[in-house]
Amino acid sequence: MNCLFCKIAEGKMEAETLYEDEDVIAFRDIHPQAPHHVLIIPRQHFSSLNSFEDGDGALLGKLLLTARRIARDLGVAEDGYRVNINTNDHGGQTVYHLHVHLLAGRQFSWPPG
Ligand code: AMP
Ligand code: ZN
Repeated sequence: MNCLFCKIAEGKMEAETLYEDEDVIAFRDIHPQAPHHVLIIPRQHFSSLNSFEDGDGALLGKLLLTARRIARDLGVAEDGYRVNINTNDHGGQTVYHLHVHLLAGRQFSWPPG
């Protein structure tokens, strides 16, 4: 499978990694939309949120807890941050390996465009 984020997870493509363990890896987005823009992915390939089964809740929870951990480590947890999962076409997804966006370091508006 020719998946960009699988390559990053396997260490076959460079990324600025902030955290990794046996389940997840977090690295800086190559086109940051905020002073801190980090992507958290499962090592296992899932195309999108739609690919998860009911039994995958622990892994999904870990992705969110990893986002929180990185926000703390970056010192932005108290000021605040945004966590986002773009899903399929209307969600604005462009890379089809599920990733959680962690954005921080500036004020965000709502609703998104
Ligand atoms: P999405 O639109 O939610 O699918 O987000 C995909 C994100 O991946 C975008 O924010 C891209 O800037 C980012 N991206 C694409 N290629 C790379 C890469 N090689 N390393 C880091 N981030 C990337
Ligand atoms: Zn993949």
